Amino acid sequence: MKMMINSIQKSVIRIHTLSRASVCRGLSSVSGPKVCVVGGGPAGFYTAQQLLKARQDAVVDIYERLPVPFGLVRFGVAPDHPEVKNVINTFTQTAHHDRCSFHGNVNVGKDVSIEELRQAYHAVVLSYGAEGNRSMGILGENLPGVFSAKDFVGWYNGIPANKELCPDLSCETAVILGQGNVALDVARIILSPLDMLKKTDITQHALEALATSRISRVLIIGRRGPLQIACTIKELREMVNLPNTRADMLLSDFEDIGETLKDLPRPRKRLTELLIKALNERNDKAEKSWSFRFCRSPVEVLAASDGKRAAGIRLAVNKLEGSGESVRAVPTDKLEDVNCGIIISSIGYKSIPIDPAVPFDHRRAVVPNDTGRVQDVSGLYCSGWVKRGPTGVIATTMNDSFDTARVLLQDMDTGKLDLSIKKPGAQAIAALLQTRGVRTVSFTQWEKINAEEERRGKPHGKPREKLLDVEDMLKIAWS
Ligand code: FAD
Ligand code: NAP
Repeated sequence: MKMMINSIQKSVIRIHTLSRASVCRGLSSVSGPKVCVVGGGPAGFYTAQQLLKARQDAVVDIYERLPVPFGLVRFGVAPDHPEVKNVINTFTQTAHHDRCSFHGNVNVGKDVSIEELRQAYHAVVLSYGAEGNRSMGILGENLPGVFSAKDFVGWYNGIPANKELCPDLSCETAVILGQGNVALDVARIILSPLDMLKKTDITQHALEALATSRISRVLIIGRRGPLQIACTIKELREMVNLPNTRADMLLSDFEDIGETLKDLPRPRKRLTELLIKALNERNDKAEKSWSFRFCRSPVEVLAASDGKRAAGIRLAVNKLEGSGESVRAVPTDKLEDVNCGIIISSIGYKSIPIDPAVPFDHRRAVVPNDTGRVQDVSGLYCSGWVKRGPTGVIATTMNDSFDTARVLLQDMDTGKLDLSIKKPGAQAIAALLQTRGVRTVSFTQWEKINAEEERRGKPHGKPREKLLDVEDMLKIAWS
C-alpha cells in the first residue's frame, strides 16, 4: 500500500513537473537556448546532461529512432554484464529533468530533416552512433551462415530488426573474425553454460537456440599477433574462467614473447601474462574450447558442396611488420582453410550518413568535426561514436560527449551561436511530425514499455523480457 501511495505521489509530482516544463517551452517568455540531440544512446544522454547542468536556461530535446532509449546500453552490452547497464539510472534522471524531453519513434533523416531541426533549435547535436558494420569485402560474405557481430549481438539482445536472424547453431565449430571485446562477448555468449544466461535479459529466442546449440569450439581469429589483441583484461579473464571450457591456444604463437614481455606497457603486459597463463592451464576434461588464432586474414568464405551455405573460411597467413601497437599485418602467399558451420564477422561497427545535407567522411565513416563542431555547418555538433568512430567504452563516450557539450556552451557564451533569435523548439517539430503522421513516444510512455518488459521477465527470474516488435512497443506505449 505504502509503495502504491509513493508511486502515485511520484506520478503527481511528475505531472506537475511535466506541465511546468511544457509551459516553459511552449508558452512562457523564457527564451534560453534550445538544443536538440539526435540519438538516445550514451552520447546523447551525456551531452544532454552536461548542457542541462551548465545552463539553467537551456532546454534539451532528445530525438530517438526507436520507441526505446539507451542505444547500445540496451542493445549492445552483453546480457551477462548487468552492472554496466546501471548507467541507465543516470540517463533516466536526465530524461526526468524539467528541461529535458525524450521523443522516441522519430527517425531523423526520414521523419524530419536535419535542416528542419536546425531551423527549430539553436543547436543540433548528432549522437546517432554507428548502426552499420564494416564488411570484410570477401567472396562468399553473404552466404547463409555468415553474420555480422552487430546482427548476432542484436539477435541475442533484442534489436527488433534482428529478431528473425535464426542462426543455425547445429555445427561444431564457430569462427569469429576480430579480437576485440565484441568478439569476446559473442564467443562467451555462445560458450556460456545456459545457467549463466537464463537469469539475464537475453532474449528468450536466443536462449532457446543456445539450449540446443552444438557448438563446442570457437576460434577467434585476428589479423595481427598476440601482442595486438584488441580486447581488455576483464573480458579475457571471463573467457579463461568459463566453466567446462578450455583455452586451446598454440604454443608456437607465444614462443618469442618472453623476451618482449618486460618492456610492454602495463595493461598490455597484464593482458599478455593472462594469455600465457591460459596457455599453460589446460583443462583436458572440458567439453568445449576456445582459442585465439593469430596472423590470419579472411580471404574467402567457402561454400558447402551444394553452394547454399558457409562451410569454412579461407585465411591468408600474415607476417607482421613494424613494432608495438602499430604493427601491420602483411599477407604472405600462404593460405589456410578452416572448416566451420558459422562465421561471425566482428571487425567493427560503422556509422552511416542519415541526411544528405550533413557532411560525412565516407573513408573514416564519421561526421567530420573539429572537437565536436561539425565542419562547415554552424549550429551543428556531434558526439559519441558518430564523432570519433566506433571504439571506446561508455566512459570514453561520456568524456567525449562532455567535450562536445563544453564546446557548444563556449559557442553560446562567445556569441558564435546567436541566442537572440527565438526558436520554437519541440513545438515546431511536433507540428511537423503530426502532419507526417509520426506519433512520438515520450519518456513516460517508454516507462510503460519498461514496466511491461519487467513484468514479462519476472516469471522466468529475468530482469526483463525485451519486446522485440516495434508495433508491440508502440501499442503498450500509447495504451
Ligand atoms: P549508441 O549507443 O549506438 O546510441 C546511438 C543512438 O542513436 C541509438 O539509440 C540509435 O537508435 C539512435 N539513432 C540511430 N540513428 C538514428 C536516427 N536516424 N534518428 C534518431 N536516432 C537514431 N561499453 C562499455 O563500457 N561496457 C560494455 O560492456 C560495452 N559493451 C558493448 C557491447 C557491444 C556489442 C558494443 C557494440 C559496444 C559496447 N560498449 C560497451 C561500448 C558502448 O556501447 C559505446 O561506447 C556507446 O554505446 C556509444 O554511444 P553512442 O551514443 O555514440 O552510440
Ligand atoms: P575493436 O575493439 O576495434 O576490435 C575490432 C577487431 O577487428 C580488432 O581485432 C581488429 O584488428 C579487427 N579488424 C578490424 N578490421 C579488420 C579487417 N579488415 N580484417 C580483419 N580484422 C579486422 O571493435 P569492437 O570489438 O567492435 O568493439 C568496439 C568498442 O566497444 C571497443 O572500444 C570495445 O572496447 C567496446 N566494447 C567494450 C566492451 C566491454 O567493455 N565489455 C564490450 C564490447 C565492446 P586490428 O587490431 O588489427 O585492427
